[in-house]
Amino acid sequence: MRDSEQPKSEIRTVRLPSGRQVEISYLDGAAVSLSDQGLAINEFEAELQESVDALLNCGECGCDTVQPVEWDGYGPSRWKIELRCPNCEARCTTIVEDDVAEGCDRAHQRGADALELTLTKLAEENAERDVQRLRFALSNNHLLPEDF
Ligand SMILES: [Zn+2]
Repeated sequence: MRDSEQPKSEIRTVRLPSGRQVEISYLDGAAVSLSDQGLAINEFEAELQESVDALLNCGECGCDTVQPVEWDGYGPSRWKIELRCPNCEARCTTIVEDDVAEGCDRAHQRGADALELTLTKLAEENAERDVQRLRFALSNNHLLPEDF
């Protein structure tokens, strides 16, 4: 067997959002297990995502853009978060672990990034439309000195 055909095994140490460090075994670049608990990393990530999704979905109207309005530390590894639904104005307060709070924060950052990207695209489209209107007005003598 040539060297390139042998599976490449590697162990990497990863720091989870909670601050805990775990070792992940990789075989040919794919994670195979968390060596400290025997949990598949995908299972851990799925549970975390489920908790974050539950936090961001409104129990009253089902809206999926629930937003935190207050964050306070609650003990060494938990957060007390006041949430507000922008759709129905429902509010609730909950206590979550660090990793869920960080997942919530990342989800909101992704939402903010998506909004910023949309705003940038709209601004570019509006600027292009303004240039086209100005070009049309100039080429058809629709601009007069008193317009300025
Ligand atoms: Zn709601």
